[in-house]
Amino acid sequence: MPELPEVEEVRRTLIPVLVGARIMDIKILRPDYIRSGLDALPRLCGHKVVAIDRHGKWLFCRLDHDQTLVLHLGMSGRISAAPVAGGVEKHTHLVFTLDSQRQVRVCDPRRFGGVWLHETMEQARAAHIHKGVGVDALLLEFADLQHWRRAGGRLKTTLLSQRDVAGLGNIYIDEALWLARLHPQQILNRLSDRQIQTLVECIGAVLAQSLRLGGTTLRDYRNVALQEGRFAKKLQVYGRGGLPCKRCGAGLKAIAISGRTTVFCPACQKRITVADGRDKDAAANPRRTGKRARNANSG
Ligand SMILES: [Zn+2]
Repeated sequence: MPELPEVEEVRRTLIPVLVGARIMDIKILRPDYIRSGLDALPRLCGHKVVAIDRHGKWLFCRLDHDQTLVLHLGMSGRISAAPVAGGVEKHTHLVFTLDSQRQVRVCDPRRFGGVWLHETMEQARAAHIHKGVGVDALLLEFADLQHWRRAGGRLKTTLLSQRDVAGLGNIYIDEALWLARLHPQQILNRLSDRQIQTLVECIGAVLAQSLRLGGTTLRDYRNVALQEGRFAKKLQVYGRGGLPCKRCGAGLKAIAISGRTTVFCPACQKRITVADGRDKDAAANPRRTGKRARNANSG
């Protein structure tokens, strides 16, 4: 938390405040929250922000001289816009005063987020969207996951790693897997092309619906205007362990994967151990069925 839809909502609500505005003053209240470029940060005064881009959960604010400020909201980060006169919220680490007489404030009680300053946009992207980060989840296509046919990892762990798809976290992965009827511990190379395609479509559908509702507010998250996201009401599985599945009525199961609580429906998200669409729930004897599938593939 926040994940892609929340960061995108922050970007969309930050653009009218920040893009085109000139930075008049910068107050650094917590220097260690500036992860790189602390000394150079005051020199942004007098410059204008010309664009705000996003990749996964990273925000890139490019200035008129190409210096680029990168922001990550971590677990509890919040960017807000407020009139200069208003009091500053507790845990505010950075305040930009703009020529519009408004301030942009970066607040983060748990401080898992941060701010990085880079000399150019190119350097900023290279530093944060290196080889180990996948395509932004909103741009995800089947071709991006095609190599899963040869991959041995498991679905949820792989999606959490950001390696193939960037921007998804616990909430949207659980929601998309439920919608796609895929088990979170599914081994990747047992998925058929059709199932991968379905997952791509379900990720897109879940993100699009959340974006329309301004993201998910469970506790802290607010957009730049301090409005809550309204997607929490639409959650099908996240946070619903033990409750009935909204599709089939079976009890939803909560398990831990990579240290995160994962909720899924054991009845409509069965594990698949036979590839190429000959789906079969092999829960009774997964090892044997898996071997059969491998033989079938090689023949
Ligand atoms: Zn179900």
